[in-house]
Amino acid sequence: MRKKLAAGNWKMNLTPAEAKDFAAKLAPKTEGGSEVVFCVPFVSISEVVKAVEGTSVAVGAQNMYFEEKGAFTGEVSAAMLVGAGAKYVILGHSERRQYFGETDETVNKKLKKALEFNLTPIVCVGESLKEREDGITIELVRMQLKRAYLEISTQDAIKTVIAYEPVWAIGTGKTATSEQAEQVCAAIRALLVEMYDNDTAEKIRILYGGSVTGANAAELFAQKNIDGGLVGGASLKEEFEAIAKA
Ligand code: PEP
Repeated sequence: MRKKLAAGNWKMNLTPAEAKDFAAKLAPKTEGGSEVVFCVPFVSISEVVKAVEGTSVAVGAQNMYFEEKGAFTGEVSAAMLVGAGAKYVILGHSERRQYFGETDETVNKKLKKALEFNLTPIVCVGESLKEREDGITIELVRMQLKRAYLEISTQDAIKTVIAYEPVWAIGTGKTATSEQAEQVCAAIRALLVEMYDNDTAEKIRILYGGSVTGANAAELFAQKNIDGGLVGGASLKEEFEAIAKA
């Protein structure tokens, strides 16, 4: 059985001191059901790790670079994340793709490096509104995943998490219906069977992300192929407690 996962993506919000306070208050309330991760800005990782100590909440980053060290001004390596106490890392979030030139190829390089350093990657894929309207959602998501998982072994694939996040639903208040979300997540699982095998596909967690709230989480997470959520806006509110419990 796949354990449900509720991952909060705090994006570029809260100073380290604010993040620490918020995490300390929220973490104990989210315990008791699903696995919970707070993906926080780089500079807050260490503080939030301290704040959630003694709870089962894990801390993640929202990005990393695929090189290990060197002249890459402004970048952060996998070893640095591990050193700061992160266990997870979001890769290929649509905001990284849209504003910072992230591609399936860079996601693939980052995925390999994250796995090498025992970070659990949350690999994001999803279509734009235009791509959905053009009827190419499934093909697009399949291609993003095939490229992101190039040369990733079965053994490693099992350690990853995939987040299906339709771009038109991120931060817009427009949630995909549970049928729309399940249709794509089922297609992702079918692709994993093709790329690996049935057993592997059954083990990999697939999250839905895109305007998940306390009100819609339970229905989304009840779908056969949806193993939890990657949550932006609502992860910075008390409401994340209800999402984690859903
Ligand atoms: C996200 O940032 O991954 C996300 C899904 O954001 P929101 O929940 O705000 O749509």
